[in-house]
Amino acid sequence: MATTTKTERSQLHCPALEELCDVLQSGLNNNFADVQVAVVACPDLTEDPFHFPVKGLCGNPRITDVGGVPYLIPLPQKHKEYDMNTVSKEVELPGAFMLGAGAAPSRIIGMNAEFMPLVQTEAEGRPAVNGSYFSSVNPADGRCLQEKYSDRFPDCHFGLMANLYACDGKPGKVIEVRVKRRTGEDSLISAMRKTLEAHYPDKSLALGGTFIIQKGKAKIHIMPREFSVCPLNTNDEVNDWLKHYEINAPIICLSVLVSRDPGLDLRVEHTHCFSHHGEGGHYYIDTTPDTVEYVGYFLPAEYVYRIDRPQESHSIGRD
Ligand SMILES: [Zn+2]
Repeated sequence: MATTTKTERSQLHCPALEELCDVLQSGLNNNFADVQVAVVACPDLTEDPFHFPVKGLCGNPRITDVGGVPYLIPLPQKHKEYDMNTVSKEVELPGAFMLGAGAAPSRIIGMNAEFMPLVQTEAEGRPAVNGSYFSSVNPADGRCLQEKYSDRFPDCHFGLMANLYACDGKPGKVIEVRVKRRTGEDSLISAMRKTLEAHYPDKSLALGGTFIIQKGKAKIHIMPREFSVCPLNTNDEVNDWLKHYEINAPIICLSVLVSRDPGLDLRVEHTHCFSHHGEGGHYYIDTTPDTVEYVGYFLPAEYVYRIDRPQESHSIGRD
């Protein structure tokens, strides 16, 4: 990361979990028929269906926005590559567990792909544990090809961009969100983000965590293996370039959301997903509102770190 710009840090509003529960409970009622938000002990994330490298989402919660979409479009800046172990030091939490949404390191894997980061970074006396997945477009049949990163590669890199939630990976109290039947237009994450934005209009809050789509189907995209050789200048051009899929539950999602950008040119929400049946990628929304069921676990972040912020920015391709 020798050529990157200086990391910026901003403190976030971090209310008590009980207060956030009440806010989310009333806001999500506008978008889902059945809503139950509670403070619970984080389930053991090393167990089924998560199989994360750590037990929980707790201890020094923070988020980071690394690089950005301007490094992908209009044309890719393929030299933009980052190491999760270095990122953990940039967010002042060496050895952190990190999850979220990003791009795979194209130099290492030899193609462009979606990246589902799930890494316990290295610490003194302990090597990194990489539980990440990546998804590409299968050249044989054009379908989704999801692979476990550590089955193919020994490193902890990613490319271009990532939105990450970082913590100590400890057990502890988290916010549990259970919703059924979507009655509004927003995805679960958009509904949570807009709820926080409306309730705390002059503050910036961020949540990170994981949720499961237990029943139903979801809309995702996967970037093609080849970067676009033509500049992608509009959202329509980006959407035509991306490959779109509908995938089946159960799906495990990794998510970061920010209620209000404190002036760091943040992507305000980004969710990637994986499954144990070979489907995963960039998550938009469920496509089965009448039957969908979700359960998720989240914590508010205390700080946001902006790493290698693009000097020339735009708002294309941030959905
Ligand atoms: Zn994405």
